[in-house]
Order: sequence, then structure tokens, then C-alpha cells
Amino acid sequence: MFTKTANHSDAAPTGRLLAFGMWLRRHQAFVRRLQWAVVGIYAVLLIVPVVMPLPGLAAHIWNNITVFAQFVFWGIWWPGVLVSMLLFGRLWCGLLCPEGALTEFASRHGRGRAIPRWIKWPGWPFVAFVLTTVYGQMTSVYQYPAPVLLVLGGSTVGAVIVGYLYGRNKRVWCRYLCPVNGVFGLLAKLAPMRYGVDRAKWDMNAATHSHEHRFNCAPLVPVKNMESPSPCHMCGRCSGFHDAVTLQARHPNDEVVKLSGRTATKWDSLLIITGLMGVAIGAFEWSASPWFITIKQMLAMALVNHNIIWPLQATLPWWILTNYAAQNDVLTVLDGAVLLGYIATTALVLSVLIAIPLKAACRVMGLRGGQAFYHLSHALIPLAACGVILGLSAQTVTLLRADGFALSWVPMARLALLVGATLWSQWLGTSILRRKDGTIARKVAASALFALGLAAPVYAWVLMFWIW
Ligand code: SF4
Repeated sequence: MFTKTANHSDAAPTGRLLAFGMWLRRHQAFVRRLQWAVVGIYAVLLIVPVVMPLPGLAAHIWNNITVFAQFVFWGIWWPGVLVSMLLFGRLWCGLLCPEGALTEFASRHGRGRAIPRWIKWPGWPFVAFVLTTVYGQMTSVYQYPAPVLLVLGGSTVGAVIVGYLYGRNKRVWCRYLCPVNGVFGLLAKLAPMRYGVDRAKWDMNAATHSHEHRFNCAPLVPVKNMESPSPCHMCGRCSGFHDAVTLQARHPNDEVVKLSGRTATKWDSLLIITGLMGVAIGAFEWSASPWFITIKQMLAMALVNHNIIWPLQATLPWWILTNYAAQNDVLTVLDGAVLLGYIATTALVLSVLIAIPLKAACRVMGLRGGQAFYHLSHALIPLAACGVILGLSAQTVTLLRADGFALSWVPMARLALLVGATLWSQWLGTSILRRKDGTIARKVAASALFALGLAAPVYAWVLMFWIW
């Protein structure tokens, strides 16, 4: 529920942000044109590389559409979108996302059915993120255009079908099923801006403004009671409604420290700890890991000793497991099994190594039940976000290095980001614990335990970027 205290620490609506929100509301036609332009660029980058021959050794970003598309999607687009969530909230979703535009368009002309219960299952953001991450690794989505078309294009087709079937002028797909909806929602919790709602003004003006033009909130946000920008696509359509909704600045730590105490859920914790800090780390790391090679060799030896040779030879179609013989890039069934095992084990081990200290911190503070743990897990968002951005930008670095760019500053920049994100998470964790009841000694001990929870994911990134 909205309270004055929840809004108290927000900075007052500042002129420029407020004006930008109102500008967006007045220029929705321009926003729609912008969205269709992005849809066009997205379609070209998605489809053209599939019909072209795979790039040879002489192919570069500037002379080959496939390498260019690879660089744009994984080197700029995705890391850029994640960074934009931290800076502007989900502005990308509301203004530029091609899937959002397409699903809303389909919904405008579709069946308009009621949203079934299965779609509203709160576990989708976690499950969809894990499935797409793992499937992307199995098919080498960062390297080849066909899996890109399958993963991103498949998601787009899903968005259009769901839009066509459910809701009217809505973004049902984005609200419930988009594989990155949960991640975007978590990152937006740290954004220094949001659409704030003055409930007193809303209630006061509701009667006198009864003829005011109604707005369509496509991602189905209950605007009147909106406290967090997590589900809001920042489209600006509600800006100025009842003179109560304004785009405004806020402190980036406020939501996690204060509001998340009430709103954090177990699915958030699963997505942060097991998804972003477990599965994602395993997915980014396996191909660089010497442990992966060792495990594979040990299993291969054991299989040969038992005269079971087929897993070392059998391959699967490219849409299940990487299979590009001409490129000398083929994963056998054994490779695939070790890959899945590696990601699953990494996710499990990291989840345990993160969750146990956090749980212990709650215990030390005398906090029983899940809510305190879910709240504390929100403090991990900066480190989780930094990891995913670093992991994706590793692709950028690889592509640029292959094209001869000298990037000697990258290790230092990575270190600075990792240290900054770790300190930010620690600051949030300590701030959350400081607000709880308890002695200083307990709070110090709980903060130390929280720091211990950060150690394992930090070490995993150090292994990947500096040791292996
Ligand atoms: S609450 Fe809805 S209408 Fe308002 S800016 Fe967010 S997405 Fe747009």
C-alpha cells in the first residue's frame, strides 16, 4: 500500500524529468514510429545473417553482416540494455523494445481473451531465464546466427502469439512471460528515476478530473498503487494523470533498503542467487574452465574403459547441441552432458555458498521466516547485475580483440566494476541490517556474514577473468 513514508525520501519531482515524462505522454505517435524502426533493424539483424554463409577467418565487424549482427546483439545491445535498466529503469521496454511493440500491436488486433492463470504463475521469470540461458549455451547462441534466430526470434513469435490471444492493447507477454522480465524488474529497483504517484492528489483529483483522458498501461501496472518501477515500462502514458503521476528522481538505494522489506519474494531470491549468480556464471564460465576439460577427460576415460564409445562420437542437430562440422565446432553428447552438469553444479554450489551466509545473517539478527532472507537477497542485485554485464561484455571484448583493437585497459575496468558492485551490495546489505532491531554487535556479525555471501560469486568472476 502507498504510504507517505514510502515516498518521503524521494527527491521532489525535478523540472527536467517531469517535463520529459509529460513530453513522452504527448509524443506517443513518435514513440511508436521509433519502435517500428527498431523492429525493422531487429528483423534485419536477426534474419539476414541466417541466409548468408557463415563468416570465414577474414570476416570483420565492418565487412560481414553476420559478425556485425553478432557484435550488435551480444556486444552492444544486451549489455547496453542491462546498463540502461540501472540508469533509466525499464525505459528500453517502453520506448524501444521490438518484442514489446509487436506484442502490443498483436494485442490491439487480437482475440482479447482473459489472461489464464498459468500465465500469471510467478515462477516464469526464473524458469524462462534459466531455460533460455542454458539453451543458448547448448546451441552456441553467441557464435552462430541460426540459434540467435531460434532463441530471440522464438521469443518474439511467443510474444506475438500471446499478444494476439490475450488482453486488449496490453503487453501480457512482457508482464508475465518474457525471459528477461524478471531480470529487468530487479535491475530497475536500482534506477535513480521512476514514475511516482502522489496518492493524496490522485484521490483528491479523481472526482474533478473524471473526464480526463484515460491512459492505457500496456504492462498492466496498477498505477494508482505503484510503488516500484519494476513492472513499469516508463512509457510516460500515465504521466500527469490526475496531476498525481510524475517522472521523478529518487535515491538508487531507497527501494532495496526500505520497500523490498515488504515486496521481495522467494522467486526474486531464486532469480538473483540461483539464476543471475549461479546459472549465469556457470553459463559464462564453462567454455573457459579447465575444470570442464578435466571432468570431460575423466568421464571419457571411464566410458572408454567400459567400452561405451557412442557418447564420445554421437552428435545432435544444431538446434539441440552445437553442430558445425565445417567450422570444426561440434559438441558431442558427452560434451553436452558435461556442459549441463557443469552449469547445474555451478548454480547449486554458488547458491549454497551465497544462501547459507545470508540465512545465517538473518539468524544472527533473530529474523525468522523467509521475508528477511528475500529482502537481504535484494542487496545482491548490484553484484548480480555487474556479473551479467561483465559476462556479456566479454563477448564484446572477444570480438573487438579479434578485429585488432587494443583493449589493455579492460582488466582494470573490470576490476573497478567488480569492486564497485561488491561494495554497493555490501552497503545495501549493511543498510538493510542496520534498520533491523538488534545490538550493534549482532549487526556487525550479520554484516560480516553477508560479506561472506559475496565472496563466492566474486571469486568465480576472478577465476574467469584473471586466473583461467
Ligand atoms: S505505469 Fe504504465 S502507463 Fe505509466 S509509465 Fe509505467 S508502463 Fe507507462
